[in-house]
Amino acid sequence: MEKIEKIIQIAKKRGFVFPNSEIYGGLSGTYDFGPIGFLLKKKIIDFWREFFIKSEDNIFEIESSLIMPEKVFEASSHLKGFIDPITKCKKCKNVFRADHLIEDSTKMFVEGMSPEELTRIIRERNIRCPKCGGELEDVKVFNLMFQMNVGALGDTKGYLRPETAQGIFVNFKNVLVSTRAKLPFGIAQIGKSFRNEISPRQWLIRLREFTQAEIEFFINPEEKTFEKLKDYENVKIRILSREAQKESKKEEEMTVREALEKGIIPSEYMAYFIAKEQLFYESLGVPKEAIRFRHMLPEETPHYSKGNVDMEILFDFGWKEVVGNAYRSDYDLKKHAEYSKTDLSYVVDDGRKIIPHVVEPSFGIERTIYAILLYSFIEDKERGWDWFKFAPKIAPISVAVFPLLNKEEMINKSLEIYKSLRKEFDAIFDKSGSIGKRYARSDEIGIPLAITIDHQTLEDNTVTIRDRDTTKQERVKIEKLIDRLKDLLKLENY
Ligand code: AMP
Repeated sequence: MEKIEKIIQIAKKRGFVFPNSEIYGGLSGTYDFGPIGFLLKKKIIDFWREFFIKSEDNIFEIESSLIMPEKVFEASSHLKGFIDPITKCKKCKNVFRADHLIEDSTKMFVEGMSPEELTRIIRERNIRCPKCGGELEDVKVFNLMFQMNVGALGDTKGYLRPETAQGIFVNFKNVLVSTRAKLPFGIAQIGKSFRNEISPRQWLIRLREFTQAEIEFFINPEEKTFEKLKDYENVKIRILSREAQKESKKEEEMTVREALEKGIIPSEYMAYFIAKEQLFYESLGVPKEAIRFRHMLPEETPHYSKGNVDMEILFDFGWKEVVGNAYRSDYDLKKHAEYSKTDLSYVVDDGRKIIPHVVEPSFGIERTIYAILLYSFIEDKERGWDWFKFAPKIAPISVAVFPLLNKEEMINKSLEIYKSLRKEFDAIFDKSGSIGKRYARSDEIGIPLAITIDHQTLEDNTVTIRDRDTTKQERVKIEKLIDRLKDLLKLENY
């Protein structure tokens, strides 16, 4: 069985991820998080907030509505531009992404081409339905936003937001006034986004409902240097340049400062976030060689952007974007100012009004979870079971408590310890089956430490702590247990 199939199986069996409404046959492109997956996701988000928001003094977090009025997406160009080209098989009626079909069968790069051009290529190259070989219809465009009719009369058009960013732009002025923030400053948002993807696939990779963590970092475009970059400019990253992509070459390692100087990263502010992204994913267990930054080609870059750089991770199926970095300039604020007829300018020190530029890192949380599951998964023949080597700060459960035997005295003592630990850690208590089985189950959900209460505990108030990674055990006094666990978990060490 492929590694990822094993992971998906364990994820279901042990309560990480379930298909949505599975008892009714599911709904493709949507998943639910079970008790363990929920905690994993929460801890990843907590760590993200710690690393990208709480460590900064000028990034403000908000939570905006999921449903937004049509005007927002008229202004942001999503109504016109958030589209995919599709084609339908005349025979079996299956619908496909036309650009993907062409790219798969001809290896041509067709990003940005019009429906007419795509139809012409399909006809010239005689591309047929991949399912039944039938003839394909002319290419049409399909808007990926979920539209809804709001209110009893249903006459107000609304949309489920396709990105969290627009909720930030429409609140720019509210946040500015309420916080009295000074440029440069950021507004962040973590929450659900919705896209009616034509062919959801690859488990948590292409979903119709997913979680984004986005920061819109507003800057004065005249101020090109960002002091804070000094602490990060020597972070090494792997860059896939435009030339390398054209000539099918590999990525090369350089510092973020070098990538800036080569003009691959368009701004010091973006360089700062890129360096932090590298450190964030490394500290979550994704190896250096599996992280690269791809300079997006001119034909993939929106006209208003001063440069986009995707952070990609090497998955079992190949490289895939996990964080999008975009220099969106003043495009969004200008458009919203125009459509809403609201002044969205910022007054700089000399009294002039400017429209700030914005640099945006946009993280996909489910893709991050996929990467973490993939790179934490240890196929362990020696141990006899497979397990997850989660970094302790994101391990769903930190500590397991086991009575060695099913004896009343041992169980009572274990419950007493378990209760005291629950105040400090996410902990579980398990008394069923042999101790070996319990270690296996706790490894399978990546619990870093397991405590066993045995005969000796009842005599001298000591317990054993088993380390998930080494399986080594040490004995500690119960009164020292919490401190020792904190020490071993190093939860505060970001
Ligand atoms: P984008 O706005 O398309 O650059 O998306 C920003 C980030 O959101 C991507 O880097 C992904 O991590 C995530 N993302 C976008 N679309 C999806 C999707 N359909 N399913 C899961 N994650 C997604």
